[in-house]
Amino acid sequence: MPQIIDGKLISTQIKEELKEKVAALKAEGTSICLAVIQVGNDPASSVYVNNKKKACAYIGIESLSYELPEDTTQEELLSLIGELNDRKDVNGILVQLPVPKHIDEDAIIKAIDPKKDVDGFHPQSVGTLCIGQPGFVSCTPAGIIQLLKRSGIEIAGKECVVIGRSNIVGKPMALLLLRENGTVTVAHSRTKDLKEVTKRADILVVAVGKPKMITREYVKEGAVVIDVGIHRNEANKLCGDVDYDDVAPVCSAITPVPGGVGPMTIAMLMHNCVESAALNR
Ligand code: NDP
Repeated sequence: MPQIIDGKLISTQIKEELKEKVAALKAEGTSICLAVIQVGNDPASSVYVNNKKKACAYIGIESLSYELPEDTTQEELLSLIGELNDRKDVNGILVQLPVPKHIDEDAIIKAIDPKKDVDGFHPQSVGTLCIGQPGFVSCTPAGIIQLLKRSGIEIAGKECVVIGRSNIVGKPMALLLLRENGTVTVAHSRTKDLKEVTKRADILVVAVGKPKMITREYVKEGAVVIDVGIHRNEANKLCGDVDYDDVAPVCSAITPVPGGVGPMTIAMLMHNCVESAALNR
């Protein structure tokens, strides 16, 4: 049987560590505050926003909540971000994506002060990650590195294949694995003979956005498989991009869905908020 990488347990450990850090910072007079902005009332976004606020409360981070109507203009949103950038008591600013179509997402991401960019999406944050300087890192890939390290899985020298090249998962994931001295290949929809590429992987990270696409034919015997995907199947049950039942018997370690990568994203968001407060006090 493979090692089942328990994201729920590891994210709880991280949150407990952060709780202590927050208490220590508070004792020194540094309080921590995350501003969460949601435009419109997309139900999935509301769930994510609520979970983020709950995590803040658990750790001892204050959260400011801005629930703006669907018809909020780009100028109004930019003006709120500008105000929050200027507020000394706000350490992190998060705009829940996606924003409504009439708002330019890139302009919003760029407007957030990189010192408060706890999502790690600002071009400056991506740039610092690329050249190996300190800065905020996108939470899902940062969480995957924690999953690997805290499960005792060595990255250095390993063949790492990432399927997917999105700005929030695939690309930062590849850069982080490279930073950890993995030998990294990024596969995408134009990759020729995907199976041949993925079968080289000692560590396979799947962020393809297609339910259960990755079966055992894509996986080398003994590989570590990290499943980033989240979908609801016909029975309304959560599943990933990996066909877990088919792949688990052939790999050495695997993340389940739910309970693998998912819980790590919020834990790392909390980590980034605490870092922001500690660095900018
Ligand atoms: P995107 O849709 O932005 O990116 C998907 C990537 O997969 C693209 O780079 C695309 O290639 C590639 N791709 C699509 N089809 C194929 C194929 N047949 N073969 C090879 N590559 C393919 O998705 P995200 O990166 O945003 O998310 C990926 C998954 O992770 C989704 O299921 C999402 O729900 C989930 N997710 C989970 C999070 C969590 O907290 N657990 C957080 C964020 C995302 P190309 O670039 O060529 O189009």
